[in-house]
Amino acid sequence: MQYNKMNDLDLAHKTVILRGDLNVPVQNGQVSDFTRIDRLKPTIDYLRAQNARIVVMSHFGRPKGTANPEFSLSFLTATLEARWGAPVAFASDCIGTIAEDAVGALHDGEILLLENLRFHGDEEKNDKGFAQQLAKLGDAYVNDAFSASHRAHASIAAITDFLPSGAGLLIQEELDNLNAILGNAERPMAAVVGGAKISTKLSLLSNLVKKVDYLILGGGMANTFLLARDIPVGKSLVEPDMVNEAQNIMAAADAHNCQIILPIDVSCAKEFAANVPNEIHSTSTIPADLMVLDVGGESINNVKEILQDCKTVIWNGPMGAFEIKPFDIGTNELAKTVAQLTQSGALKSVAGGGDTVAALDGTNSSKDFTYISTAGGAFLEWLEGKTLPGIAALLTNKKAA
Ligand code: AMP
Repeated sequence: MQYNKMNDLDLAHKTVILRGDLNVPVQNGQVSDFTRIDRLKPTIDYLRAQNARIVVMSHFGRPKGTANPEFSLSFLTATLEARWGAPVAFASDCIGTIAEDAVGALHDGEILLLENLRFHGDEEKNDKGFAQQLAKLGDAYVNDAFSASHRAHASIAAITDFLPSGAGLLIQEELDNLNAILGNAERPMAAVVGGAKISTKLSLLSNLVKKVDYLILGGGMANTFLLARDIPVGKSLVEPDMVNEAQNIMAAADAHNCQIILPIDVSCAKEFAANVPNEIHSTSTIPADLMVLDVGGESINNVKEILQDCKTVIWNGPMGAFEIKPFDIGTNELAKTVAQLTQSGALKSVAGGGDTVAALDGTNSSKDFTYISTAGGAFLEWLEGKTLPGIAALLTNKKAA
């Protein structure tokens, strides 16, 4: 697959629109994981070395087409300055005169961050007119938002119709590594998928069961699978309207010889809060007045045994409500296990996704994984064998996509 790279474009002294993914995890108003920011730095450095004027744009959260200050990117400039080691100006809109004036004030090598793209509903509609307004701001376009490249949005796809375009260094690194490790993955292969809900990962789960030998489920989404097996889950986060889908996924897994592994025991509490008393219960006897907030020790031991038999594991989504203690234990223990097996040479491991990387950092184990992707959804969709819309838009022969 041949795609255009920024290194092939003439960017010296040009105004370059750089699509990053600055949708970083935030806790109490503070960035809780810098991975996406730090992994964009090589591209920033490259562009600064070219004396380019750098116009950074990104989405943040889901403001759904309205300028909701809660989702403003303005809070991020100080962090970007500290991590990138350069001043970062801010424009309070990503199109129109506000953005155009801010771009006009830039000098060679300077950086401007535009306000959240998703303040405009046209961004998620891949609207050509909106893309054209963005394109008006620069001479060239660089996509380095690998983790957003599974979305055909205006700043990812349509914009490439209007400017010379290429992939940044992060996208190149991600594709090189994912191809090398997972292009011809050694079996048995397991996918660990956690996180809050099935509904957001439905198509991924349906496809994963066709690709992997084990689908290990944790987090809130495992509750819906338990319910689909007629196991009551008390007051847990659960999606009763997804029970049918969960049953379909289980049937597809059977048909493709993929074993779905659900928690055997769980850590429960009365409320979703830090340091509340917790109780461990077998999944078959979850008390009606408690909610499941993490997987238990038996479940982790079970997963450890399965992973000892595997050659490749991919991981997206935490095993529990890892932000609040003691419900980080399941995720932390599993992270340590995968790290140890990787370091011993028994396993190749790839983890990805904002929350997942933040969760792994709790045990400082990310460095021991074979590869950490900045992407969650995008890397799972890449695994399905799809050409991501963001990459398709950069193909040297677009019509072949
Ligand atoms: P996602 O963005 O879908 O990967 O979900 C990550 C979120 O899932 C984290 O904020 C976790 O707190 C949350 N989560 C994981 N397990 C549970 C659970 N058992 N109950 C409630 N929330 C959970």
